[in-house]
Amino acid sequence: MTKFIIITGGVVSSIGKGITSASIGRILRSHGLKVGAIKIDPYLNWDSGTLNPYQHGEVFVTYDGMETDLDLGHYERFLDVELPGISNITTGKVYKSVIEKERKGDFLGACVQIIPHITDEIKEMIRKTAKIEDFDVVLVELGGTVGDIESQPFLEALRQLRNEEGHDNVLFVHVTHIPYLKAAGEFKTKPTQHSTKELRSTGVNPDMIVCRSEKPIDNNMKKKIAHFCDVPLDAIINTPDASSIYEVPILMDKERVGEYINNRLKLNLDTDPSKLDAWGKIVKSLKKQDPLVKIGIIGKYIELEDAYISIKEALLHGGGENEVKVDVVFVNSDVDSLNKEVLSDLDGILIPGGFGERGIEGKLEAVDYAIENNVPIFGICLGMHSMVIQFARRVGLIGANSSEFSDDLEYPVIDMMEEQKRVKNIGGSMRLGSYDCKLVDETMAKSIYNQDLIKERHRHRYEFNNDFKEQLVESGLILSGFSPDDFLVEIVELKDHPWFLGCQFHPEFNSRPNNAHPLFVSFIKASYEHSKNK
Ligand code: GLN
Repeated sequence: MTKFIIITGGVVSSIGKGITSASIGRILRSHGLKVGAIKIDPYLNWDSGTLNPYQHGEVFVTYDGMETDLDLGHYERFLDVELPGISNITTGKVYKSVIEKERKGDFLGACVQIIPHITDEIKEMIRKTAKIEDFDVVLVELGGTVGDIESQPFLEALRQLRNEEGHDNVLFVHVTHIPYLKAAGEFKTKPTQHSTKELRSTGVNPDMIVCRSEKPIDNNMKKKIAHFCDVPLDAIINTPDASSIYEVPILMDKERVGEYINNRLKLNLDTDPSKLDAWGKIVKSLKKQDPLVKIGIIGKYIELEDAYISIKEALLHGGGENEVKVDVVFVNSDVDSLNKEVLSDLDGILIPGGFGERGIEGKLEAVDYAIENNVPIFGICLGMHSMVIQFARRVGLIGANSSEFSDDLEYPVIDMMEEQKRVKNIGGSMRLGSYDCKLVDETMAKSIYNQDLIKERHRHRYEFNNDFKEQLVESGLILSGFSPDDFLVEIVELKDHPWFLGCQFHPEFNSRPNNAHPLFVSFIKASYEHSKNK
């Protein structure tokens, strides 16, 4: 029987509910449990695919092609699993499904209401996800902060879930913030008391309170919170800011989170603390301070680092594997000209994915710089497009570009995929999810992966235009990966360059702290070599 751990948030947003959930999951997984995870996003969008990265950060793509919240990325990295797209529930999905049922006549005669129809639908979605893999435990993180209007139906559904599944099978964790008032010289528990009260007003009593704080809080603080919030003292967990997100499971384990959950949910686990040793090794390798390798991400959403979160994490994983510290520098591509001093300081350049013309010329300039100066360069999706466009311009196709940016091109070296031309709705209609890719013998890609066939996740509408294949290959571009039918170019490389690789897919989604993605490992290695020779 699956047990559910439900995570809500209070006081402020962005306190790390996702990392808290993923860390609880990591602890339970280290003790041998099969752990799944669900993220509830109470917004009305059906998925996050059409949301601006400034609103929402990165769109995380699941293997089965769902565009989801970036917290799913944290879950996949911490739990080392691949989650199905239905692990991201939104208000949009819930209402769409209920309204479709109503139109079909499923509720004939009934007045369709939030309770029971919407709440039933929410519970059904949660249970369906839990059944997919017969998980021992499923984490359910409710986005937003208690008190948000949008969260109400979800909290009600989760309250019902506890009654239906039974007290021993559902546990509520409330994540709050304990602010430190400099002027008073003390931590304040009042916001936590208020948000717990707010949560209680929905009929949900938290079993555990995770107190986020800048610095550790003392036992008296914990006693006060336990007393005022009516939660046992051993269920008041403090997670002060950590230097790395991967340290959080270790911090939480020291607070005996595993032991408390084990008793409360009657899991019968052997809670030997050494179970997290392997994870500790990863943390140690990621915390190495030298040698330093500087990688520049050339993007246009740099004001919000979350827009590139999986790439940043994958770079760190690659650093851990090479036993170097990766310093990620965000370079704005939306400028007239990139700062050459900043560029010359980089040991490696990464051009991430993206949409629209803004910032593209900066990306092309970075490609040019990397070719001229033999700097390792890694292009992902729009990054690969930038590599192909700039390479084409350099070998004489003046004005080469992607049809994404203009309809009137002499050299559309990147063009819209045939099946995309028939697409009418923008949402969820790109080439999405995992696809096979064949690797070509005697290429860098083949030697890095050391496999004939790989599987990687995609999210794009445009691709390499085969009309220019011959000409570009003759000029020195290497095509090293293809779709199984040989039609779509998936990877490009460059002759006589130390490390130049662009891929149509997003390898960052498959990188794990304990299993860094081979492309990132190889890219960091090449960048480290470059740093030594500079
Ligand atoms: N905008 C490009 C396309 O749709 C690239 C997408 C991406 O970088 N994820 O093909």
